[in-house]
Amino acid sequence: MKHFDVNEIRKDFPALHQKVNGQPLIYFDNAATTQKPQVVIDALTNYYSTINSNVHRGVHHLSQMATNAFENTREHIRKYINAAHTHEIIITKGATDSINLVANSFGKGFIKKGDEVIISAYEHHANIVPWQMICEEKGATLKVIPFQENGTISIEDYKSLINKKTKIVSVGHVSNSLGVVQPIKKIIEIAHQHNIPVMIDGAQGIVHETVDVQELDCDFYCFSSHKMYGPMGVGILYGKEKYLNEMPPYQTGGEMIKTVTFEKTTFNELPYKFETGTPNVADVIGFDAALTYIEGIGMDNIKSFESELMAYAIEKLNSIDGIRIYGDNKHKAGVISFNIEDIHPYDAGTIIDKFGIALRTGNHCAQPVMDSYQIQGTLRASFGMYNTKEEVDKLVEALIKVKVMFG
Ligand code: PMP
Repeated sequence: MKHFDVNEIRKDFPALHQKVNGQPLIYFDNAATTQKPQVVIDALTNYYSTINSNVHRGVHHLSQMATNAFENTREHIRKYINAAHTHEIIITKGATDSINLVANSFGKGFIKKGDEVIISAYEHHANIVPWQMICEEKGATLKVIPFQENGTISIEDYKSLINKKTKIVSVGHVSNSLGVVQPIKKIIEIAHQHNIPVMIDGAQGIVHETVDVQELDCDFYCFSSHKMYGPMGVGILYGKEKYLNEMPPYQTGGEMIKTVTFEKTTFNELPYKFETGTPNVADVIGFDAALTYIEGIGMDNIKSFESELMAYAIEKLNSIDGIRIYGDNKHKAGVISFNIEDIHPYDAGTIIDKFGIALRTGNHCAQPVMDSYQIQGTLRASFGMYNTKEEVDKLVEALIKVKVMFG
């Protein structure tokens, strides 16, 4: 195992070394987006200073260089998630874009009136609304697996929703509002017993867990670069070839076509059938650098460091009187959602910010989760590979001060 030194890692992230409100920044909003290591920032600058060019369409040197770097990233992503084929990796704008792609394209091709789609009650809005829209359009029904007090779904509840009308299941790997790791392997296994494909929203999963899509046997898995220390504006959709081949194009225009006449257009092969227009080349190449960076640290190292930090933070937060953590579960990754008794999360979050600590407050784009706990929102601390126990201690001190102020 490689050596893991959080202080060394912190040196790689320039944004961590600044003061906010006169205090050293403590960045605990990693579930919203992570900070970027210098190698990622350099990759962007290098791209624009050297090989900036459009991809897949020029025989000239720069275009070939940019195309190679772009396609090498696709292959890197394939390896990273152990997909069987490079053409099963579709480059999108983000996890939201990936889910919209599947909901619309799979929906157009396979969902009809009277069918059903299963999601869960812990989903991010990005994995609710696209399915709601396509169900409405097609006259299909959205079925929702409830979650239990501890933030995880019950397999029995899930099984009871599956029937002959079910066309697809789409659930999150890790819930962004509770941080609970869901039993996705089991969810996939059960769906496959009924020949139903499963989409996994991995936006909060892949940054904390090793993902092997062949081992999981999921049919689709999506995520965003910016939550994995990479640039914004890049998302990934992994899809099994057998589904992607059968699905109609999502958006149309340049890149995704083979031939165009006014009578008929034929579509490009995978993955280009789903990649319309000029892609975000610089940021895709930046994502390549982010993956290399993560691999250099080692996912096993990151995972064990983060789980120790999570356990420490949960214990420390629980020691404060009046704190309630939502989704009390031993399978948690990266996220702790909590409230302080009788203090509105916005009030607490605003004061915490004065201590230079970035927490997220609100419903975390998961309003149904808040509704099921009958709360308006929570405070959310979410961790990355560069956070420390000392930072957690500072958060605890700040929370105690908030309590005194409102006490
Ligand atoms: N799903 C989950 C679980 C998320 O946490 C997020 C981002 N908060 C998304 C989807 C959407 O990701 P993006 O905004 O990068 O498209």
